[in-house]
Amino acid sequence: MVSLAILDEITPGNRHAAGGLELERSTTTLREIIRLRVRQEVLRFNDGATEVFRGLVQPEESERILNGVRQRPVVDWEKQFEKAVAAFRGNGLLVLVDDCQVTELDEPIDLQPQTKVTFLKLVDANDLDGEFRGEVEKIRMEGCSMKINLALDGLPDFTAYPGSTLGPHHRATIHVCPSMEYVDRAWEDAKAGRPSEHPLVEVTIPTTYDDSLAPPGKHIMCIFAQYAPYTLKDADWDSIKESFADRCIDALADCAPNIRDLIVHRQVISPLDLEREYSLTGGNIFHGDMTLDQLFFMRPVAGWAKYRTPIDALYMCGSGTHPGGGVMGAPGYNAAREILYDWRGRKLN
Ligand SMILES: Cc1cc2nc3c(=O)[nH]c(=O)nc-3n(C[C@H](O)[C@H](O)[C@H](O)COP(=O)(O)OP(=O)(O)OC[C@H]3O[C@@H](n4cnc5c(N)ncnc54)[C@H](O)[C@@H]3O)c2cc1C
Repeated sequence: MVSLAILDEITPGNRHAAGGLELERSTTTLREIIRLRVRQEVLRFNDGATEVFRGLVQPEESERILNGVRQRPVVDWEKQFEKAVAAFRGNGLLVLVDDCQVTELDEPIDLQPQTKVTFLKLVDANDLDGEFRGEVEKIRMEGCSMKINLALDGLPDFTAYPGSTLGPHHRATIHVCPSMEYVDRAWEDAKAGRPSEHPLVEVTIPTTYDDSLAPPGKHIMCIFAQYAPYTLKDADWDSIKESFADRCIDALADCAPNIRDLIVHRQVISPLDLEREYSLTGGNIFHGDMTLDQLFFMRPVAGWAKYRTPIDALYMCGSGTHPGGGVMGAPGYNAAREILYDWRGRKLN
């Protein structure tokens, strides 16, 4: 028999015991730990051992005991378990076993006597001041780009610079956007709520720098395609993403006619997929539109541009903060400086 201590951490460093579990085997999985935890806390509540439900995830409003309601509802532990698994998959909670993060639900975990399992939960919307929350909810996050990854049988042969043996141009970032009018028309389509009829295509071929990424002679091509508005007027992304990808390949084929014959496999990631798979709200690659009213002291929201949040000792960095999205590391650098400032001034424990 192995005993596990279960801890919850909602604000940084503020851990509290959430009970314990007894397991018969010394190897288990996170899915099993979540299942046992949720089942135990729901059964305790249903048996009347606790008055108010405080579990890993909250039950439906109708299941929860509300102020003044004396009739006790019964919480469905299997539904709660599914919600907890969905929260883990959606990064709503992170789990540490002792001090190692567990990233897979079904990877085997070896338990030692008195192993500690810590559930780090994201801040609940209700824990935030209403005005701050209102400002955050107003941040515009309309993604406008799509990704296509290709596995290729060789290198593209560009009419402007012929040859499919590795040349300097294959190592560049390659843009297909023949004129300002072309860009303008592509943007007009997006403004009207449809992906560009003639898209702008930005291409890189990482295997020209690192040939270990693919078997000899094969290549990977990453395409960044615009414009692909997250909000469509008369369509949904799951139905149209492949046809938009075809148009992107057509645009590339105008410059490199052999491209279609080289494609062994393609992965198309729509703005909706960016949201569903990678938690990029609105499919926005910069965690918020980079428009003037959402930059500088107004990023993420006015009054909170210095990486602090209304929650003590909880800092924010990344593209959603000043100076915004881009491969530069500046938000993290600035945030670290503010954290050190608070730490030296003993605002932090
Ligand atoms: C499809 C796409 C295309 C883009 N194109 C461009 C471009 O052409 N030019 C440009 O400048 N910008 C581009 N961007 C934006 C740019 O990539 C981001 O703005 C930038 O990478 C943000 O940097 P960051 O350091 O804040 O976050 P990230 O680069 O996302 O780094 C965060 C890191 O933290 C790690 N992490 C997360 N959780 C944990 C944890 N619990 N424990 C440990 N590690 C953790 C992640 O694995 C990740 O490596 C693009 C973004 C996307 C999505």
